[in-house]
Amino acid sequence: MTASGVRVRIAPSPTGEPHVGTAYIALFNYLFAKKNGGEFILRIEDTDATRSTPEFEQKVLDALKWCGLEWKEGPDIGGPYGPYRQSDRKDIYTPYGQELLDKGHAFRCFCTPERLEKMREEQRAASKAPKYDGLCLKYSAEEVSAKMASGEASVIRMKIPTEGSCDFTDGVYGDVSIPWDSVDMQVLIKGDGMPTYHMANVIDDHLMRITHVARGEEWLASVPKHILLYRYFGWEQPVFMHLSLMRNADKSKLSKRKNPTSISYYSALGYIPEALMNFLGLFFVQIAEGEELLTMEELSAKFDPENLSKAGAIFDIQKLDWLNGRWIREKLSEQEFQSRVLTWAMENDRLKAGLRLSQSRISKLGELPELAGFLLKSDLGLDPSAFAKIKSPPEEILEILNTVQPDLEKILEWNVETIEAELRAIADRMGKKLKVIVAPLFVAVSGSSRSLPLFDSMAILGRSVVRQRLKLASQAVASLVGPKN
Ligand code: GLU
Repeated sequence: MTASGVRVRIAPSPTGEPHVGTAYIALFNYLFAKKNGGEFILRIEDTDATRSTPEFEQKVLDALKWCGLEWKEGPDIGGPYGPYRQSDRKDIYTPYGQELLDKGHAFRCFCTPERLEKMREEQRAASKAPKYDGLCLKYSAEEVSAKMASGEASVIRMKIPTEGSCDFTDGVYGDVSIPWDSVDMQVLIKGDGMPTYHMANVIDDHLMRITHVARGEEWLASVPKHILLYRYFGWEQPVFMHLSLMRNADKSKLSKRKNPTSISYYSALGYIPEALMNFLGLFFVQIAEGEELLTMEELSAKFDPENLSKAGAIFDIQKLDWLNGRWIREKLSEQEFQSRVLTWAMENDRLKAGLRLSQSRISKLGELPELAGFLLKSDLGLDPSAFAKIKSPPEEILEILNTVQPDLEKILEWNVETIEAELRAIADRMGKKLKVIVAPLFVAVSGSSRSLPLFDSMAILGRSVVRQRLKLASQAVASLVGPKN
């Protein structure tokens, strides 16, 4: 423990590609620790077993490391309060569920999913917010024991006060008051014995001695549940700080449909981590014009959590581009620049993989940039005319591109085999030959109809770059398709 005792954490759920929003929250916590002489730790929150994967967990670790946000304790390096992956902590949570039952702060709920669905439907029909109606609160201890003995499935839910409100001071929002009436009787322990996010999060923050919880504003509404759990257990609650979400320029929530949101997209395109951190860090400091170029040290010196705006952090890619250019030109020495370029080209083994695929397809080395350059390009500059050689009419190409995009998102592990299997399945579903599906994808991904094998290329480029290229291709082809009448 450091002298200041300050301990903060980033607690990502490994359910998708690491998001720039995670880097933004992680950076806040990292700077907060640095500024206060505290510790920054990493905890993996994988209580959602259906959506969490080891592949995504590894990607989160890699992405945060790439950002330069080193943690003091975490699933990869251990630490005094481990394990740091919630699925490895299942046995730790069980007694706490029992404790809340014993103290009368929680109850067993035997409602079936069908009953809960019917209840929610009725609530929706009556324009009420969906909320557990408390049916199972009526059972006596004997009735509960009998149901348990007969093997009836159950979950543990928390009790919520019926009157008044939960009042607290958020480090960013200031005074907040949320009526208890609007708080749901949250499930704490699921039927399979695994805790829900709320339960595991509070127990872990307590056991890991977290003093300040800084996270996205989407969690603000959960604070009453968390505060209540701290009270039920008799624990001191941390200071809460809810940061405004990053938004697109049109103020909508940052989403991959509008802007690339994966950290891996930015690293693949050759943004340098210092520039990305500089860009995100500017949301946490007050500076005068002309002072924008800041290193991590300078950001931490200027960091002021008291002075954040609630207006929202706009993800302005042009500003990021501008900062990235300045970093490359003004901050990197010639040597450093060269070594960065080489590291970038080798990232995820892509240069080697590209060369492996190219060797049998060229007669002079000088043909390489034309053949394989698309693996490194940030922008293909795709023109609608690039699709002219494809036999399918633009309407069909557009249909293919638009069908493939959401379906590729369903792939859990992104590799040559899974990509091929998914594209074959899509071809079957659409009743088309594989080569009809593949032709426009070829152009979308590589910019040309003569290049490296498609599935391998998609695997090398990575999901986030492929996603963006397919989106731009759809836009290009859409301009060829006349308006529907
Ligand atoms: N696992 C949550 C997330 O990924 C963490 C929220 C929190 O920091 O409490 O957003």
